[in-house]
Amino acid sequence: MTHKDDCIFCKIIAGQVPSEQVFEDEQVLAFLDINPINPGHLLLIPKEHSETLLETSTEVLCQLMSHVPNLARAAISAVGADSFNLGVNVGRAAGQVVFHTHFHIIPRFATDSHRLWGGQPYGAGKMQEVGSEIRQELGIRN
Ligand code: 5GP
Ligand code: ZN
Repeated sequence: MTHKDDCIFCKIIAGQVPSEQVFEDEQVLAFLDINPINPGHLLLIPKEHSETLLETSTEVLCQLMSHVPNLARAAISAVGADSFNLGVNVGRAAGQVVFHTHFHIIPRFATDSHRLWGGQPYGAGKMQEVGSEIRQELGIRN
């Protein structure tokens, strides 16, 4: 549990910790990641503290998402990138380190050779089995 009094991003919002900010309105703030995967790597956060995406209201998530295209276009143009990844780490096992909900907007270059994804095909029948389990969790009849 990260209480908002011990939260580095809440301190950034309050101006107690310096950051290179590029956009803010009443609900959200966007600033440069201090350890970028590529130049122009942005963090987009809600001003209201929540630990992970799963504790963030749908309304706030929609607010965040509504700013992604503009911010991504600006970051891509500013650094001369080719495209971008939108990333959200939810929980420690997924790589979340700062427990204040945030979206990563990561400019990508055709030449950067970062590899974020590497999937493996399912074994026989396994995809249907997992699909059925998820539908059950969602309360959707199989
Ligand atoms: P996570 O792994 O939690 O999804 O990502 C947290 C991100 O926050 C990391 O990419 C890290 O570089 C960035 N970060 C952590 N502390 C600070 C800070 O004090 N200032 C800025 N600008 N970025 C930070
Ligand atoms: Zn916070």
